[in-house]
Amino acid sequence: MGTTSTRQGRAWVEVDLGAVVTNAERLLGHLPAGARLLPMVKADAYGLGMAPVAAALARALGERLWGFGVAAVAEAAALRAEGWTGRILVCAPVAPSELEDAAALGVRVAVSDLAAVRRWARWGRRWGRTLPFHVEIDTGMGRAGFPWRAASRWSARVAAAVAEGGADWEGAFTHFHSADAPDLAATDEQWRRFRWAVTRLPEGMGRLRHVANSAAAWRRGGYGLPLARPGIFLYGGEAGPGTPNVPVVSVRARVVRVALAAPGATVGYGAEHRAATSERWATIALGYGDGYRRASWPAGAHVLLHGRPARVLGRVSMDMIVVDATGVPQVRPGDIATLLGRDGDATISLADLARWWDTIDYEVLTGWTRRLPRIYRGADE
Ligand SMILES: *Cc1c(COP(=O)(O)O)cnc(C)c1O
Repeated sequence: MGTTSTRQGRAWVEVDLGAVVTNAERLLGHLPAGARLLPMVKADAYGLGMAPVAAALARALGERLWGFGVAAVAEAAALRAEGWTGRILVCAPVAPSELEDAAALGVRVAVSDLAAVRRWARWGRRWGRTLPFHVEIDTGMGRAGFPWRAASRWSARVAAAVAEGGADWEGAFTHFHSADAPDLAATDEQWRRFRWAVTRLPEGMGRLRHVANSAAAWRRGGYGLPLARPGIFLYGGEAGPGTPNVPVVSVRARVVRVALAAPGATVGYGAEHRAATSERWATIALGYGDGYRRASWPAGAHVLLHGRPARVLGRVSMDMIVVDATGVPQVRPGDIATLLGRDGDATISLADLARWWDTIDYEVLTGWTRRLPRIYRGADE
C-alpha cells in the first residue's frame, strides 16, 4: 500500500475471507475430533458482511459446519434470503411478536422462559410442524436463560410443554462472561454449573449441548463438547491470552489533500491543534461518519502512510481527518492511508484502535459504518 491505486474510491474495508477460513480451521484443531462449528454471524458477521462470510465458511467447512448463529430474527431472514437453507440458531431471546416470523423461516430459537416455549409450540401446532428450540441456561451471564440452580423445576415444565406437541427440545447451552480473562476460574465454575444443571434435564431432552465462545473453544477445547459458537476469533479479534489468529480486516482511505502548515496554523473544529513549527498535513477521506472515532484525538492515534506512522491532528470530522505527514515527504493526494491493518512493515492492529478508543476489538469491528464498502479477497485465492 501507500502507492496510488485507481481501483477503490474514497475509503473502504478489506475483508480477507481466506483468513476467516484459516481461523475456523485453526479453531477446529483445538476442539475434539469430529467437532462442528456454529459460527456467530450476528451483527453482519461483526461488521464484515454476513452473506460473503457465511458463504465462505459454508463452502470451506462442509460437514464441519453445524449451522450459523445470529442474534435477531431479521438476521436469520437475511441469511435465508441469501439462499442458506441449513440450520440457523437465534441465540438471543426472541420477542413474542417475532416468533411467528422465526417459525416461518424454519430457524431454531433460544428460549429463556416457559412462556416462550409454550408460544413456540403453539406456532408449531398451528402449522402442523415440530419446531426445534434450544434452552439457554444462565450460569452467571445474567442477561438470558433459565436459572441454573432451579434446573429440576423448570426443566420438568419445559418437558411437559413439549409433550403437548409442536416443539422439539433440541439443545441446551450457556454463555461465558469471562472466558477471555487471564484467569479461567470463573469460566470453569460456569462450566460446572452448566454440567450440574444438565444432569437435571429429563431423559433425552436438550441433548445437543454447547457452551464455548471463541475463547473457551481455543483455551479449554470447548470443554470437550462437539459443538462450539465462535465469533471474534474467526474475524481476527483477540479471544483472550494466547489465542493467535490471522488478521482479517483492513481499513483504508485516500489522501485527498496535502498542505504545508506554517507555524501557528490551526486544524479542525475548535482549532485544537496548532502547528508549532512548519508541518506537512495530509487530509484523509474518512471520519466518524465512517466509524473512525472522535476519541482518536487527543488519544494519540495514528494512521500509516507509505508504511510510516502519521499522527491524527485535531478533532475527527464526520468525513475527514488530518494527520501529521511531516515525516512522509513523498505523500501525495490519491495515496492510500491505512487506518487498520498492514502497510509495508508497519501494522495498526485491532488492539491499537481499541486502546486509542477505550473499547474492545468487537466494537472496533462492528463500528465501521455502511458508508464504507466491503471489499473481499476470496477464500479460494
Ligand atoms: C456472540 C456470541 C458468541 C460468540 O462470542 P465470541 O466471543 O465472539 O466468540 C457465542 N455465543 C453467544 C450466545 C453469543 O451471543
